[in-house]
Amino acid sequence: MSRAGIYIHIPFCRARCSYCDFATGAYDAALAERYVRAVEREIGEFASATQGEPADTVYFGGGTPSLLTPAQVARLLAAVRRRFRVEDDAEVTMEMNPGTVSHEVLGGFRAAGVNRASFGAQTFDDSELRRLGRTHTAEDVRRTLSTLREAGFSNVSFDLIAGLPAQTLRAWERNLSEALKLRPEHLSLYLLEVHEGTPLAAQIREGRYRAPDPDLAAEMYRLLVERTAAEGFEQYEISNFCRPGRESRHNTKYWTGAPYYGFGCSAHSFDGRRSRWSNERDARSYAERVERDGSAVVERVELDEREASAEALFLGLRLLRRGVDLSAHRARYRRDVRAEYAEDLRRFGEAGLLEMEGDVLRLTPDGALLSNEVFAAFV
Ligand code: SF4
Repeated sequence: MSRAGIYIHIPFCRARCSYCDFATGAYDAALAERYVRAVEREIGEFASATQGEPADTVYFGGGTPSLLTPAQVARLLAAVRRRFRVEDDAEVTMEMNPGTVSHEVLGGFRAAGVNRASFGAQTFDDSELRRLGRTHTAEDVRRTLSTLREAGFSNVSFDLIAGLPAQTLRAWERNLSEALKLRPEHLSLYLLEVHEGTPLAAQIREGRYRAPDPDLAAEMYRLLVERTAAEGFEQYEISNFCRPGRESRHNTKYWTGAPYYGFGCSAHSFDGRRSRWSNERDARSYAERVERDGSAVVERVELDEREASAEALFLGLRLLRRGVDLSAHRARYRRDVRAEYAEDLRRFGEAGLLEMEGDVLRLTPDGALLSNEVFAAFV
């Protein structure tokens, strides 16, 4: 079996962005310390993996994990190392927000073992950042990147959001140029989604902004694919682009059916076979549950054979180059995809959205753009 990935959710932010519906709240030092202690205990008492199971990625996601102190991060990594056999060359990623980290703090994270930074640049246009309720500026992104480089981070990913309120194709192009000029190793694209209950949803309802335009978002996506290819990036996943060899090893686990274990509130886990489970969403309730029971799991799902196969298929297809090897898929899930989805495969093949090369099924570039339509056929 492939080595596991470890995810740790840190649910604190400086301020809430207008579009965000993640499990996160305002940073509070006392709650953060109580929370870190709870996560250490949850990892220590975790019963769903063998002691010493090998792991080669650790990912601090959020929220804004870089609001923790280096000492807290070091304690969490030590808890992971006590419970799992973390390989020496493990990829240890931390999500960070521009403007939240000093040189000293970044040096502390680096010394604790963090070797990859994923940071939420989102856009290089200050008026767009303000509209999103972000607390940083484009200059903060540039400054944070140079501080990261000085602190020894040679593997940095930017998140960019396309389809922002009032964003034009021209503005998006300028954003891309700015992002590429900074030469990150990796880029992740997010298309703006409007979630009910967020300030952005209310602003759109009140007519302050238009709802995102899917055709414009598709144009932005095409432009990103072209510009990143011209700069030597590989599009290894529908929304992820990297310099050769700089794929996110952690995120690739989600698309290849590898086991991953999530700790902290709202964290999700998968045992690499049929079982999925997830934790309590609220940070305080999470801490209370762990303090009481040593665990905060609130939901477990056992996939049947058909569900496990369908899930592996649509997740695997996200990896554009690799695709899904149908022989290997059959050996692992005992399902014959060619026979089961014969009509869908024919239809999407004729429409130029899917292609076969030997035993490998892949999305075409047009298929990547319309992937949700293709995936809907498999679920
Ligand atoms: S920084 Fe990220 S997690 Fe925090 S409020 Fe903004 S979008 Fe949400």
